[in-house]
Amino acid sequence: NGHIASVTLESGEVVTGDLFIDCSGFKGLLIGETMESPFEDWTKWLPCDRAMAVPCARSDDFTPYTRSTAREAGWQWRIPLQHRTGNGYVYSSAFISDDEAARTLMDNLDGEALADPRPIRFKAGRRTESWKGNCVAIGLASGFLEPLESTSIYLVQIAINNLVQLWPRKAMDPVLIKEFNRLVDNEYDRVRDFLILHYHANTRDDAELWRYTREMSVPDSLQDKIDRFRHRGDIPFYRSGLFAPPSWVSVMFGQGLKPEGHDRLTERLKLEDVQQRLETLRRKISNRVDAMPTHDQFVRDYCGVKEAA
Ligand SMILES: Cc1cc2nc3c(=O)[nH]c(=O)nc-3n(C[C@H](O)[C@H](O)[C@H](O)COP(=O)(O)OP(=O)(O)OC[C@H]3O[C@@H](n4cnc5c(N)ncnc54)[C@H](O)[C@@H]3O)c2cc1C
Repeated sequence: NGHIASVTLESGEVVTGDLFIDCSGFKGLLIGETMESPFEDWTKWLPCDRAMAVPCARSDDFTPYTRSTAREAGWQWRIPLQHRTGNGYVYSSAFISDDEAARTLMDNLDGEALADPRPIRFKAGRRTESWKGNCVAIGLASGFLEPLESTSIYLVQIAINNLVQLWPRKAMDPVLIKEFNRLVDNEYDRVRDFLILHYHANTRDDAELWRYTREMSVPDSLQDKIDRFRHRGDIPFYRSGLFAPPSWVSVMFGQGLKPEGHDRLTERLKLEDVQQRLETLRRKISNRVDAMPTHDQFVRDYCGVKEAA
């Protein structure tokens, strides 16, 4: 019936089962090679397909966040850890060579490099069916979105939650399969749109990648969001999806998009009241932050690693 009956391991052991979960990473051994669920390629919207990664010595700038810096053909990450800083350049091989990417990365470290740059290859997209027959793909076997917003592990976790919620009987109910795929598609599509927005809404005119991504047409779902925001600052709120309105607002404003109008309901609010409420909020946040230890201090007290002897 097109279902997987068993998997034969390298040792020769045969594993039979009713439901198989493919977590073989990019290879998608069961979902792709066996079940032939096609991979929908999103490179035209998310052209970054490679990364160079290198650790460097830890610097004093121990930020409590990952810094992402736009570069000529992509962006560079900087992730401070206790014992070193992780760095990488995510780039599009259509716009820069591997050697140039490695050079750019090595020229932009804030500590001594602790290794040679390591190349990683990937392709943005997802399976058209993450659950097909009696095979469910989870993680990279189901799809990949570049790490600009560090979303892969979230997508793994949400797929596991959905599978548990929709756990099938032996016969693999098609309604459950359809619902699982709808939920997975929603999650992927919303993260995809959020990532594309970072690239599309840019005003740089100094590099090919940025010109390309600004001028490309984007998925209808994203174009609708941009149009609604431009029209009167609307951000749709969905029950599912990783990024809530504050994230969208940050990137929309951060990338220079401005609403042309406003929601008529806001006319019922007095500007002074809104300003006062925001001022109170700002003061409360500031007081709380002032009373807290620094990130460096907190990490040392709470989960500090012992210095190597
Ligand atoms: C530098 C870097 C930084 C990242 N940062 C983040 C982050 O901040 N946040 C985040 O959410 N995600 C991040 N990710 C992504 C995240 O780590 C991956 O998406 C996640 O680990 C993928 O898990 P997976 O199990 O799907 O695939 P993998 O981790 O690739 O696991 C697949 C496994 O299948 C095994 N396998 C394959 N073929 C066979 C076979 N024939 N027989 C037996 N075993 C097989 C492989 O050996 C492997 O162990 C990052 C990735 C990288 C490279």
